[in-house]
Amino acid sequence: MKNITVIGSGTMGNGIAHVFAQNGYQVSLVDVNPQALEKALATITKNMDRQIQKGILSEEQKAKALANLKTYTDLSQGAAQADLVIEAASENFAIKTNIFKQLDEIAPASCILATNTSSISITKLAAQTKRADKVIGMHFMNPVPVMKLVEVIKGYHTSDEVNASILTLSKAIGKIPTLVEDYPGFVANRILMPMINEAIYTLYEGIAGVEEIDTVMKLGMAHPMGPLQLADFIGLDVCYSILHVLYDGFGNQKYAPCPLLEKMVLAGDLGVKSGRGFYDYANGTKDLVVAKNFSIRP
Ligand code: NAD
Repeated sequence: MKNITVIGSGTMGNGIAHVFAQNGYQVSLVDVNPQALEKALATITKNMDRQIQKGILSEEQKAKALANLKTYTDLSQGAAQADLVIEAASENFAIKTNIFKQLDEIAPASCILATNTSSISITKLAAQTKRADKVIGMHFMNPVPVMKLVEVIKGYHTSDEVNASILTLSKAIGKIPTLVEDYPGFVANRILMPMINEAIYTLYEGIAGVEEIDTVMKLGMAHPMGPLQLADFIGLDVCYSILHVLYDGFGNQKYAPCPLLEKMVLAGDLGVKSGRGFYDYANGTKDLVVAKNFSIRP
């Protein structure tokens, strides 16, 4: 595979484009929003500068990587030559369905269609196309240039050849892939989200405060970030919608989002991206300050 098209140039799309361009692939980055494309190029450049400072990348490699990147607002231009498309547009079934239907018409017949979805069924997306054997999940972790894991999710009809080539490709870009079946939340979010939800229940029931809960998990379980800080980082709206996918998919009460999580999402406290969640980010993300709503405990 040589030509990789990445659809959506937000948090994940720019990271995926960065990693492929850095590894010598020709990358077409597509977004409906031209400002998002500009922002993505600026972010990729900034992140490559950071890699140069850390000695991971040279100036020459940066220049080569950036030369491998082209941006498009038109999907039919961006995907016409693709060997692999990785869809990383907004987590919305209607948006993704529309993209997959278009891709099935535009992309070459041999092209593999992958999605970076956190929770939407790969099998359901594959059913929107006439090439279900070539549709697969490639779930990168945030931040993509740093995190090693790619959770590779095989849909009901994904062929063994496609599974194998995506595993090989993931290794070729320096990642460590794991192959999993297509069930709600796959593996990463099926395990992570109930832990985050339980941390929120622990706060909601007054068993411990924000700092206490995160300290127990950081120092006691050697987690680099406490579950409440991690929820803020992921986005509380994202956590809420993934828990709903688990709840609806399994029909099991144990996945029901905590009422406190729902209340915070309704109030617009979504974590880092909105400036406040369990912590207050008015002064950035370096020093953790518990949000005032949670400072009722002595
Ligand atoms: P984001 O909101 O940062 O970016 C989404 C981008 O998609 C936006 O720039 C938007 O303009 C673009 N877009 C929307 N509709 C489009 C269309 N029809 N065609 C082209 N571009 C379109 O979102 P994100 O956080 O990067 O998430 C992208 C995907 O990755 C989602 O499926 C999400 O679940 C998944 N994911 C996110 C994370 C994370 O930590 N943020 C981690 C793993 C997976």
